[in-house]
Amino acid sequence: MRRNLVVGNWKMHGDIHSNQVLLSALINGLNNYQNADYVVCVPNPYLHQTRTLLENTNIAWGGQNVNQFEEGAFTGAVSPHMLTDLGCTFVILGHSERRVLFHETNLSAAARFDASIKANLTPILCVGETLAEHDAGLTEVIVASQMDAVMATLSDDDFARAMHLNMVFAYEPVWAVGTGKTATPEQAQEVHHFIRQRIARRNAEAAALVRIVYGGSVKASNAAQLFNMPDVDGGLVGGASLDADEFIAICKAAN
Ligand code: PEP
Repeated sequence: MRRNLVVGNWKMHGDIHSNQVLLSALINGLNNYQNADYVVCVPNPYLHQTRTLLENTNIAWGGQNVNQFEEGAFTGAVSPHMLTDLGCTFVILGHSERRVLFHETNLSAAARFDASIKANLTPILCVGETLAEHDAGLTEVIVASQMDAVMATLSDDDFARAMHLNMVFAYEPVWAVGTGKTATPEQAQEVHHFIRQRIARRNAEAAALVRIVYGGSVKASNAAQLFNMPDVDGGLVGGASLDADEFIAICKAAN
C-alpha cells in the first residue's frame, strides 16, 4: 500500500518572517494527520530556518534543485551534501521551470538524479509535456523520453538504491503548472498509469511501490478528486503551498 505524499514547492517566495508564520501554521495544522507524508521544498537560504522549525515534526523538507557535482568552482550551485547537511531528505529535479527558464536538459536531470541518490536524497523527478506537445498527442512520447533519459543511466544497483530511497515521480503537465488549469482526474490517471507501466518494464515490484504525484494547479478544491485516482499518490503543489489553509486542506485530502 502506497502512502500519499504532498510536496510544497515554494519556488522563489518567502522571507524569514512569512516562513515562520507559514511553517508554524503547517506544524499545528498537520500534527494530527499521520496517514500521509508531507514535505516542503524551500529556497536554499531558508533551509536552516526550516530545519530549526520542522525538526521533530511530521513534515520533512527538501531542496528545489541540486547540482550534480560534489564540490568545486561552480558559482551559485549547491551540492547534494550541502542539502543533506541541512537535514534535507528530498530534492525536486527536472522541474519544468528549470527546463524552460534555465535550459536544463534530460541529461542534466539524469546527472542530478544520480548524484542525489548517491547522497541519500530522495529524488522527485518531474516529467510532463508542454501545451503544444499535449495538443499534438505527444504526451506519452515526451514523458517516456524524460523518464528513459534518467532510468537508462541507472545501473541495477543505482535503481535498487533509488527504490530504497523511495524515489518519487511527479507528473506535471507544463500547461497546468502555475496557470490555474488543472488536468482532469482522468487525464492525470491516464498518464500516471503510463508512468507506472514504464517503470514496470524495468521492475514490476518497484512500479507497484513507487509514488507518482500530480502537479499543476492543485488546490484544496480539486485535490481530493485527483488523489482518489488509483495511480495518483498525492501532489506537488506550487502556488497553493504558500497559503497555509490551502496547503493544509490539500494535505488533509491526501491523508
Ligand atoms: C509546481 O511548482 O510544481 C506547481 C505544480 O505549481 P502550481 O501548483 O502553482 O501549478
